Amino acid sequence: MKKHFHIRVNGIVQGVGFRPFIYRLALENNIKGYVLNDTEGVTIEAEGEEEDLRKFVRAIKEDFPPLAIVQEIKIEEKEVNHFDRFWIEKSRTTDKKITFIPPDTNICKDCLKEFFDPKDRRYHYPFIVCTHCGPRFSIVKDIPYDRHNTAMAEFLMCPDCKREYEDPLDRRFHTQPTACPACGPKLFLYRNDKTLISEDVEEIVKKVYQYLKEGLIVAIKGVGGYHLACDATNDEAVLKLRERKRRPFKPFALMTGTIEKIEEFLEVSPKEREILLSKERPILILKEKKTLVSRYVAPDLTYIGIMLPYTPFQHFLFSLDKDLILVMTSGNLSEEPICYKDEEAFERLSHIADYFVTYNREIVAHSDDSVMFVIKEKPFFIRRSKGFVPAPILMKKAFPVHLFASGGDLKNSFAIAKDKVVILSQYLGDLESPITQKVYKEAVKHFLKVFDVHPEVFISDMHPNYFTTSLTDRLAERKLRIRVQHHHAHIVTVMAEHELEEPVIGLSFDGTGFGTDGKIWGSEFLIADRKEFKRAGHFSYFMLPGGEKAIKEVWRIGLSFLYQSGIPLDYLPFKEGKPIDLILQMLEKKINSPFACGMGRIFDGISALLGICEKITTEAEAAQKLEETALKARKFYKIEIEPIEIENELVIPTEELIRKIMELKDKGVSISEIALSFHWAIIEVSLKVVQRIRERTGIKRVVLNGGSFQNRILLKNLWEKLEKLGFDVYLPQKTPLNDGGIALGQIIIGRENLV
Ligand code: ZN
Ligand code: ZN
Ligand code: FE
Repeated sequence: MKKHFHIRVNGIVQGVGFRPFIYRLALENNIKGYVLNDTEGVTIEAEGEEEDLRKFVRAIKEDFPPLAIVQEIKIEEKEVNHFDRFWIEKSRTTDKKITFIPPDTNICKDCLKEFFDPKDRRYHYPFIVCTHCGPRFSIVKDIPYDRHNTAMAEFLMCPDCKREYEDPLDRRFHTQPTACPACGPKLFLYRNDKTLISEDVEEIVKKVYQYLKEGLIVAIKGVGGYHLACDATNDEAVLKLRERKRRPFKPFALMTGTIEKIEEFLEVSPKEREILLSKERPILILKEKKTLVSRYVAPDLTYIGIMLPYTPFQHFLFSLDKDLILVMTSGNLSEEPICYKDEEAFERLSHIADYFVTYNREIVAHSDDSVMFVIKEKPFFIRRSKGFVPAPILMKKAFPVHLFASGGDLKNSFAIAKDKVVILSQYLGDLESPITQKVYKEAVKHFLKVFDVHPEVFISDMHPNYFTTSLTDRLAERKLRIRVQHHHAHIVTVMAEHELEEPVIGLSFDGTGFGTDGKIWGSEFLIADRKEFKRAGHFSYFMLPGGEKAIKEVWRIGLSFLYQSGIPLDYLPFKEGKPIDLILQMLEKKINSPFACGMGRIFDGISALLGICEKITTEAEAAQKLEETALKARKFYKIEIEPIEIENELVIPTEELIRKIMELKDKGVSISEIALSFHWAIIEVSLKVVQRIRERTGIKRVVLNGGSFQNRILLKNLWEKLEKLGFDVYLPQKTPLNDGGIALGQIIIGRENLV
């Protein structure tokens, strides 16, 4: 019997080839009616035999196009209209704008095939793209998502491209960025003094390969900005890049052509393989098993970040040499945002790069490569940016109003929310310098425009000195303004991801977060729900002599540890030339020495006391080196510490931990074994605290989040032990473990606190 289904599909279903997909499905299943884009998604009027309709609906659910995200499919039965064909109806014009923009993704296999096919009209054309792949977020200027609102506006489609664009059965039907050598953007090779070397793609790729093999540095304009590339197997080239980029320690990311090449020198699990090959193409941190690249790529580290090519040009370059491994690092000076505007790139990068590969299409929204790692076959983000942004994080409950959450000042991402989605911004880095602050403000403006968000509620961290706090004050004007505790936000981020409603025990371990008592928190055991929290435990406070300075010069924290634990100062390594007496006076008089208990700072202090790290050049360097040292140990010593009950809080005596660590040092235990023992001491005492909280509250859901859980020893073992003890453990899988994820928690806490 003939039936009529009225089908509504919500999610990312516009500009991703959804209507032609439906059109083809309808023809295949003998369905009559039409499909159209409207304000919230796609509507389909479908008539056919019941069995055909069921098949049609199942295929919609299962086979939708790669860039689409289907949030919800609603079906209503209606009276039969007796349509005689299936067609694509003109979009309904409404004043409400389209909400979603897909992320930028890897070139798809169909386009790649055409790219390497000498008979194809897009043979070796670096801007080949189709409905299922290529740049999106990076080129959209405004909505609706039509070509004239993108960076492609100035390129007039040629008749061939236009024909494909208008054909519902073509892979490039309504592909806004579609282009070909006759009508699209072009590639250029320049020397760093702006002398044009070539406009010929074949010549450019060969020359670039040759330059790289000669040990030169080439800036290559990618999807979200410029990369700096050099031969990763060439010590001299890598060192030169470190020096010019002013980046002594922070590891460089690599790129190579094939998964086989990666497997040749790095350990790859099935999940890791899947992530490397995914359309998002993040940098994945993997364990080295064989030395193929310069040791200056990741000095003294066991883990290396690597990704596979995703732009046509990258694919072309690596096709020349299957053994090629390049450093592909963001085109910037240390701590500055990635360069993405051409003029600026020449200004800021010409003393780093010898040559520039660029093209005449603007990057509208910049993004760095995303960075991930895998533990126990679960993915974790260190940076969520290109490939993932601005994919929405879907919620069950709709937001009553539009919200804005600023994120924090470090590893910033902000968030906006409307309807049933939260959208996290790209990674915007540390908002310390005027240049990153400017980029942040521009990004906020851009997001509010392209997602048509008009916030009624403005949320930030409660840190009084954060740039994001004062900027949010200004943005809010007289609208509702909410301030959220940092570690509460970390925990609620995970609750939101896993749709947890009931209270949890939240372990939020990180470097710095402003506490409700005005001190610096960061080793928090919270009993939290989406609205409120209670502090149930933490490590005891210690002083940071010099405040911010101690975070960079971690030997100061080491000294403070000794002072507070009553251990002779002779134990301090790196004493030479240090203003020891001055720092002691500061500690004694408590001048400019804020109280803190951040896990990251405890790692810093111990790293200093073990002589591993004196001062850092990049965030978490001391902690990372401590972890690296611990990885070398074969055994560890059990360190017992008892939490002390103080005013309803379980306080872990940090001094006790330090004394016991130094006892091991006294006994002549190797530094790597002490480092591992320290990790286990943190794990064991955390387990004690969590168990005591469970005894008191009956809660057995535990959330772990915060930058310190980027430490694999800590994350993996605490997670495993908690599960063994019968806890349900929840971890962030869609957002970064560090402050890059807190804007999601801020948004949710903000909503819960609307009265
Ligand atoms: Zn494609
Ligand atoms: Zn064309
Ligand atoms: Fe944090």
